Amino acid sequence: MDQPFFFHALKVDDKACIGCSHCMNACPTEAIRIWNGKAVIDDNKCVDCGECFRVCQVNAIYVEDNDFEQIYRFKYRVALFPAVFVGQFPEEIKVSQIYSELHKIGFTHLFEVERAVEILNESIVDYQENKENELPIISSFCPAIIRLIQVKFPSLVDNILRLGTPSDIAAHFYKQKLIDEGIPVNEIGIFYITPCAAKIAAIKNPVGEEKSIVDGAINLNRLFNKVYRNIKQATEDVLISQATELFSYEVLWTLTKGESSRVKGRALAIDGINSVMEFLEKVENREVHNIDYLECRACKEGCAGGILNPQNRFLTVERLNKRVSLNLKKNKQFSSSGIVNYKEYLNEKMILDKLVPRSMMMLDSDMALAMKKMVKAQKIEAELPGIDCGACGAPSCKALSEDIVKGDATLSHCVFVQNVLMQNGEINMETAFAIIDKIWGEHKVVKGSIKSGK
Ligand code: SF4
Ligand code: SF4
Repeated sequence: MDQPFFFHALKVDDKACIGCSHCMNACPTEAIRIWNGKAVIDDNKCVDCGECFRVCQVNAIYVEDNDFEQIYRFKYRVALFPAVFVGQFPEEIKVSQIYSELHKIGFTHLFEVERAVEILNESIVDYQENKENELPIISSFCPAIIRLIQVKFPSLVDNILRLGTPSDIAAHFYKQKLIDEGIPVNEIGIFYITPCAAKIAAIKNPVGEEKSIVDGAINLNRLFNKVYRNIKQATEDVLISQATELFSYEVLWTLTKGESSRVKGRALAIDGINSVMEFLEKVENREVHNIDYLECRACKEGCAGGILNPQNRFLTVERLNKRVSLNLKKNKQFSSSGIVNYKEYLNEKMILDKLVPRSMMMLDSDMALAMKKMVKAQKIEAELPGIDCGACGAPSCKALSEDIVKGDATLSHCVFVQNVLMQNGEINMETAFAIIDKIWGEHKVVKGSIKSGK
């Protein structure tokens, strides 16, 4: 059966790419190859974690997001934003200034996603009561982690919590609230201000839902620059926001330990995609026991470490903590903003469909053939030098052996094999150079060309 299509938000700009292979070596799922001197991302393996984006020195990896102007397709434009957006601003900037500016640039309504945390948290605790659920329950919060489990840890798919995220619940609530106020549904646009690429991908191609309730994703970095510039240039403080500030501990939910500290039983928080992979391997091999809940986030420090956040993640965490404790000190009362009145409706909406594994190997859509190819790939891998040098344009000897059985590469892509073939007279120097050119680009062996990217 064909696998469903995976939308990806991270793309390679061929003109800017210099084929340095940093992204290939950083990709945790071995989704990148170098072909003709350019990085190529395999859609079936990419999980939109953004590690390639972080390491590219020439900004050749970019995030394909929605244009800000798209919000004007709707008469009522809701900005759904996570607390980390506020955490980008220096503490001297008041939340009311930020909210007012969001209104001035075009949003008619604002809503913080963390307002949905309380309701979700109660549902998670209820979910934990069901003894039929596989343990440990793995949080469904981070879309990159869901995709990672689907492609790399298929045996753990059933451990993923089948409840939506605060942003989805908040979106369901706000849309329904406006409908109840008499606004036609086709006039309401809900836009999530995203700190990461994985969320953009999840909105365009949701997992566990047919269609996302969110109408579009706005790049947090771009929006921050717009809002911050306007606040700095403003000659007077015109506060037009009526929104009430969210100031309780829910604000910290998207940060590391924000979720695990609020669920029942023994819960661990793991951040950073490589650490998550290391831990999930232990879970898969049953090397760790008696864990009830796993909060796994692809980014270090949770959403504060998202690739679209312009500010340092540690400063973001510090700022949010300060804002929370300052507000709590002032003894402000938490306003539920009416979301609790929609609890029953939201409980129904937050349940996700059963998730399906997606074989990372993708060696063949026919399972029997895929197994045969896997055995063949293992044999090929045993013949390769095993030093994972990357000269073949694949990140490891294992990855090259898989490419060979898929028909995407040949044994002669390995420089060591090439040497043996040349010694045996099976290929000549010209052929060997042609192979290298095919992988690294025609001009790669010319001194200096690596910098120009030609
Ligand atoms: S320039 Fe290097 S790191 Fe950037 S996309 Fe190309 S190969 Fe990857
Ligand atoms: S987003 Fe992550 S998984 Fe996808 S190609 Fe980049 S590093 Fe690999």
